[in-house]
Amino acid sequence: MTEDKGKTNNAQVMNIRAAKAIVETVRTTLGPMGMDKMMVDGAGNVIVTNDGATILRELDVAHPGGKMMIEISKTQETICYDGTTTTVVLAGQLLSNSEMLFEKGLHPNVICRGYREAAQMAIDYLHREVSINIGNEVLHDVAKTAITGKTVEAATDIVSTLCVDAVMAAGDVDKVRVVSLPGGSIEESYLFNGVIVSKDFVLDYDLDEETHVLLLNTGLEEEKGKDNVQVQLNAADYSQFQKSGRDDLLECAQHIVMKMQGKGVVFVRDGVHDHVCAYLRKNGIGVVRRVPQSVMKALNGCLNISVAQTPEELEDSAFVKISRQKHNDVQYIFVSAQDDSDQSTLVLRGATQSTLDEVERGFDDALGVVSLVKDDQRVVCGGGSSFVAMASYLRNHGASVGGRPQMAIEAFADALEVIPATIAENAGHDPLDVVLAMRHEIQNGNLNYGPNVTDGGITNMKEAGIFEPTKLIKQAVLSATEVTTALLRIDDIIGRSPAE
Ligand code: ADP
Ligand code: MG
Repeated sequence: MTEDKGKTNNAQVMNIRAAKAIVETVRTTLGPMGMDKMMVDGAGNVIVTNDGATILRELDVAHPGGKMMIEISKTQETICYDGTTTTVVLAGQLLSNSEMLFEKGLHPNVICRGYREAAQMAIDYLHREVSINIGNEVLHDVAKTAITGKTVEAATDIVSTLCVDAVMAAGDVDKVRVVSLPGGSIEESYLFNGVIVSKDFVLDYDLDEETHVLLLNTGLEEEKGKDNVQVQLNAADYSQFQKSGRDDLLECAQHIVMKMQGKGVVFVRDGVHDHVCAYLRKNGIGVVRRVPQSVMKALNGCLNISVAQTPEELEDSAFVKISRQKHNDVQYIFVSAQDDSDQSTLVLRGATQSTLDEVERGFDDALGVVSLVKDDQRVVCGGGSSFVAMASYLRNHGASVGGRPQMAIEAFADALEVIPATIAENAGHDPLDVVLAMRHEIQNGNLNYGPNVTDGGITNMKEAGIFEPTKLIKQAVLSATEVTTALLRIDDIIGRSPAE
């Protein structure tokens, strides 16, 4: 064990180094002028993205310290949908600053205590003094802030309006259905009042503009031998056996015909036997089979009819507008919603599948932050202005804590300023000048100034309409602090036997 002397610091140094390597990969993507990354895997598949969470998710990282940073970005994305790069860049700076504190002789536990204290003080202050309570009128601005610097920025107004409309219609971001259709431009994206099913009819079907629709939550096919029973039959008996199975199915199909009373479409959750499809079509009914559960649920909400568990239970059909469209050789069925339904689908258009993927990521961020602000109604000004405000507060009030943790609080304050500094740097401006100018404004009581990414210097974020959810900033500070303190407290990395 003698040669392991000094290993304590080794683990910390290695973790800090690995975490900082992760930060370096996403640093340049932060802010409206952030660059994109092209990621290529072993098979040559390419992703071009500006989204921190996506870059980190796709990174092939072996070091456990690096993995913890990636995990924290996932947490940020799950809770706040956006702000992943911010979190990781802040955590990186907190780690760098702790290296300086190590050199000054501070124990990791003291640093952790100071950082945690600082995070709490900063968040309390954020809620108390920096956060603004504004109504739904800022939702568009919040959406626009989330998409600046992304592919979708080309159509900022359209995208932000669509996001706000979609969240308002669905009530919650998780209920917004998104369908990407390649072969168009972002400007052609729209909100469709209804559900889009990416399936086609089993047998070619002549669709009327308006038709009856039924929903069936089961299958219409012979049950697979569950018990693997072996039975010996002669040819005549076998065909009789098969026929009886089919007769049962056709009996089920008759229920559908009876309920439909004319032409119509039935969406079926599971498989449907070809004979049944043929029988139904002969009776004027089109079949869409193997419809995913989530789509069935959406159809249920959109048509206001129940989903029958068996054909016998089928209730009345809905009479709706329905159409068929083909995009890039894929057939889609568009089912319009009944008048009193709030079910809508965001239809995204983009030239190719890869640009469309990035469009979808941009929409995801914007939909998420709009939903956060809709629920919480609290925002802060963007551009990292809230971070500089928190830093100023900590510098002025850190002394109240006293003792050595005070040094960690000051280091924490310095780290917070990395956000506006990086945004300015990525836009090609001097980070130091920008941060100093922001500090100066804060001394004069103006908390709303942030980097002017086009002309350099600083500008009023509130007047420019750059807002972010308060919850996002709070979570970014908490997550970054948590991962930093977790990494600092590790003094050894030990191999463990693989999980059973
Ligand atoms: P993240 O993954 O952290 O969301 P982004 O690349 O989306 O990273 O950058 C977000 C940062 O850019 C936020 O701090 C936001 O306030 C800032 N920002 C967005 N638009 C502007 C703008 N027009 N001017 C200055 N800062 C902006
Ligand atoms: Mg963002």
